[in-house]
Amino acid sequence: MIEARLKTEPLGENYIPSLQQAQQILWIGCCDSNAKESTVLNILNEELFVLRNLGNMIIDDLSCETTIKHAVVDLQVKHIVVCGHYGCRIVNATSRDGLKGPWSRQVLLPKNSTNKLDALYSMHEEDINQLPVQERDRLFVELNVLDQLRSLRKFPEVTDAITLERLHIHGLVYDSETEKARRVLEEQQSY
Ligand SMILES: [Zn+2]
Repeated sequence: MIEARLKTEPLGENYIPSLQQAQQILWIGCCDSNAKESTVLNILNEELFVLRNLGNMIIDDLSCETTIKHAVVDLQVKHIVVCGHYGCRIVNATSRDGLKGPWSRQVLLPKNSTNKLDALYSMHEEDINQLPVQERDRLFVELNVLDQLRSLRKFPEVTDAITLERLHIHGLVYDSETEKARRVLEEQQSY
């Protein structure tokens, strides 16, 4: 069961310590999330460099690619946060017709992509459907966050910086009911 391999945990106090300096964090969030990034992390707005797109995805488009490279190479951010959110109208498992168009479709997207919503759903459909309906979307949001972290690690700039221990990447999910985020982890995750 996929659920046995996933867990979430609350963010500790000062999960990412505020350094009170400019742009130490690249935050990749979703267009329809109401998460307030600086409040979620308890840091200053000035510490954030923010990219939002449909479904908080690391995808092969110029905006995403350029933003990540600029943040890691030029700004030398210390953290990249990918933050999904429960209740996302883009990333949902129970109605996969929620978003139409090439953004979610595998057919129009580059080969070997593993970060597209329909491909991700197909990969986990059996596991997702074993869950009660109300839990399916939540799991799919979490799966999507982890999948984006995998895509992030395909950038040489990112893996080099992680190897040098000057960059850390984080997968979070925001819950608007509690107004808090939780960290999404695969068991035995070691970063
Ligand atoms: Zn969303």
